[in-house]
Amino acid sequence: LIRRNEEELIRWIESRGWPENAFVRRGIGDDCAVCRPAPGHELVVTTDLLVEGRHFLLDTTPAADLGWKIGAANLSDIAAMGARPVAFFLSAAFPAARQDLFAAVMDGLRAILSLHATPLAGGDLSAADHCCFAATVLGEAPAGRALLRSGARPGDGIFVTGSPGFAGAGLRLLAGGWRKTAPDRCADPFGRKRPGEGPEWDCLQKHLRPEPRLAEGLCLRDSGAVTAAIDTSDGIAKDLRQICVRSGAGALLDDARLQALIDGDRVTLADVLGGGEDYELLVTVDPAGEAALLAGFASRPGFPPLHRLGRIVAEHPGEVRLAAATGEVPLPVSGFDHFRP
Ligand SMILES: [Mg+2]
Repeated sequence: LIRRNEEELIRWIESRGWPENAFVRRGIGDDCAVCRPAPGHELVVTTDLLVEGRHFLLDTTPAADLGWKIGAANLSDIAAMGARPVAFFLSAAFPAARQDLFAAVMDGLRAILSLHATPLAGGDLSAADHCCFAATVLGEAPAGRALLRSGARPGDGIFVTGSPGFAGAGLRLLAGGWRKTAPDRCADPFGRKRPGEGPEWDCLQKHLRPEPRLAEGLCLRDSGAVTAAIDTSDGIAKDLRQICVRSGAGALLDDARLQALIDGDRVTLADVLGGGEDYELLVTVDPAGEAALLAGFASRPGFPPLHRLGRIVAEHPGEVRLAAATGEVPLPVSGFDHFRP
């Protein structure tokens, strides 16, 4: 069992080796971090609070995956702005007897920050009865170029990256008794060992180790054709509604296009529309630049598919509707809401 005092903990964190960059001139070890933005750039800032029992359950989430996910969820917001992450801050509270868990969380966080060359520039620590993590990320974008939710216009196409719904399906598998038992293994509800591959594994990994779409966000921004963007943390229906509300427009989803994202009983329409924590990018695209954007996106090695979902309309502002053979159906405002009574 690891037992360090606060100063030893901070020195241990520093000693783990984190990415460095020109933005963070002075990181951990002073009263403040000292940062140096690139000339002609703006900073985007996001912050996120994760509370044990509300946002994560330690009996279904391996600690290293939790650390990864804290990083991924916040980097995903930077991706949604079409920005590049430049500094990460983490404040953590946890029981004094759970330093082993904290160490594993930091290992998972270090893995994803290393992958995206983002320094850990500071934070704070406290003992507490339950685990709680507060993350802040700074990102950088050329002045005036950050992607916003408010720019969607009637006629724009609606697109989403990757595999929406898989994380929701993964959460359902965990609730049904599936467990990830090692970085490359899982177990079914009967405790039978399974290898780290196959349909269930894909969903578990998508839920536990989401991939923030950072390179994709930069590509979408640089296309000049994206008019609005958001990352899908609460499900397509709810996240697209945010774009509609902020843009003063409506959205019409094409039922046939959504059906193409469903995968048997594994990923349902409810997962695609209302499953949270996918951390995909949902964007609206000006038709004038659409062909070039799609060709550019498809040519990038390692990029996920970009699925067309429907279009932005002038009618029913602030509302998402589904265009089916039987007519237009308003989508219920679904998705996760912390304060829903
Ligand atoms: Mg977001």
